Amino acid sequence: MTGKEARERKLKEIREIAAGWGKIIAQEAFPNGPGLDVSLADMEDLAMAASRALVQGAVEAMTGSQAEQFGDEAPCPTCGKICPLKTASRAMVVRGGDAVLSEPVGHCPKCRRDFFPAAAGVEG
Ligand SMILES: [Zn+2]
Repeated sequence: MTGKEARERKLKEIREIAAGWGKIIAQEAFPNGPGLDVSLADMEDLAMAASRALVQGAVEAMTGSQAEQFGDEAPCPTCGKICPLKTASRAMVVRGGDAVLSEPVGHCPKCRRDFFPAAAGVEG
């Protein structure tokens, strides 16, 4: 199996899981089924709110996991001094929703600058 086939298979699995969550959300919103007064637009509003929350949860979990991989310290890109890293939160609009991203940020006391190891080469 190629990497592309593996990714497509994983995406198919994830779509099936998410479709199942959609059914759970419908049942949660209308335990006895939606009444005839519930419009398609109402259903779409509910599904979109759930979708945005799903995007937020997934993106925040993945970026948080990446931020942890940077560890506790990193070299200053200017002078090379090993500096402690903190985690900064940044509110972002992402495709399909909003998310608060966690990203490691270092501060070099010698150069008096902040740097972002996740965006190597980009000035902070
Ligand atoms: Zn420095």
